[in-house]
Amino acid sequence: MAHKGFLVIADISGYTAFLTQGELEHAQDILKSLTHTLLDKTQAPLVVAKLEGDAVFSYAPERSFALGQTLLEALENMYYAFTSARERMKANTTCTCTACTLIPSLDLKIALHYGEYLIEKIGQGMELSGPDVIAVHRLLKNTIIEKTGIEAYLFITEKAAQAMTLGDITDSMIRHTDTYEHIGELAGYVHDLKPVWRRLNAERRITIPEKEIWVQESADIPAPAQVVWEYIHEPSRRTKMLAVLGVEIEKPQNGRVGVGSGMHCDHGNAKTRFHIKEWRPFESAAYDVSPVADASFMNTISIEPLDSGSRVVITYGFPAGKSMSGRLAALTMRQTMKKGFADGARDNLRRLSETITEDIQSGALVMASAAAPEGA
Ligand SMILES: [Zn+2]
Repeated sequence: MAHKGFLVIADISGYTAFLTQGELEHAQDILKSLTHTLLDKTQAPLVVAKLEGDAVFSYAPERSFALGQTLLEALENMYYAFTSARERMKANTTCTCTACTLIPSLDLKIALHYGEYLIEKIGQGMELSGPDVIAVHRLLKNTIIEKTGIEAYLFITEKAAQAMTLGDITDSMIRHTDTYEHIGELAGYVHDLKPVWRRLNAERRITIPEKEIWVQESADIPAPAQVVWEYIHEPSRRTKMLAVLGVEIEKPQNGRVGVGSGMHCDHGNAKTRFHIKEWRPFESAAYDVSPVADASFMNTISIEPLDSGSRVVITYGFPAGKSMSGRLAALTMRQTMKKGFADGARDNLRRLSETITEDIQSGALVMASAAAPEGA
């Protein structure tokens, strides 16, 4: 049976010069370590299909994620992990051999396509096949660097961008087309990854100081961090978690939700605004919450991977350095809602877990690991 989904190849670039000019043993160790980082960071919704030399081929079945932004962020995280590993390696070596001095020249190119594929299980691994699998491999040979000058990139085919409903998100990317023998034109968008590394590297974790914590509740949920993250942020799922009338995204930046944008939750008699202050998919986020005009408090979430799922921690409290009037207003709010905050956090976590479990059972949500061929 043919499956539908997203096909991804992450390929280390610059290794040819590296292997031919460098100290062979060092070169191989470095490539091995970077390839391991790639394998390790091929995370849900993606599943590793095969290691192909210095490239990792993976896929994400349809319905394994809700928002196109999620798959984009999973790939950005992969690039961030790769680049961080490369930078650490460079910083930690004193070796002056050609391979070690060429470490900074290694980079990553990623191709993302959407289509049909067949899965055949072979030994411990699996083999994906079909014309779209061939196409995504062909995409690695392209004219992107010579035409755009972008060295580290994610190329998203038109078909993939449509299936992900990326919408405005592609506005900040560069249109690009290459023509392939027997396939024809493959058009799509080039996403420059170097600025992504700089952005993620600059982002700081926001935590509520211990003595400022009002309420902290946690729950273990049988789903990967990416799923939990989406069920907390995607409007229709968030609506269920908070048991509100609706959730709207405010001020998306270039079509994306992140720092600077917000969520607006409709309780019927009141509206609560969540201004996003930190956005580290799929690990942690912080929001400045204003249920009433002058008062605001801080809400953070963190998601920690477990062996079989993830642990979510919700925290409410004062942000550090709030103005005196803001603190007083928030303090009054806290006094009147003391029990409400703790009960609310527990209820949210319970509904979050229930919704995810129901969606897995009904097949509305396909777990990445469940994509392996049944009974094969
Ligand atoms: Zn060396």
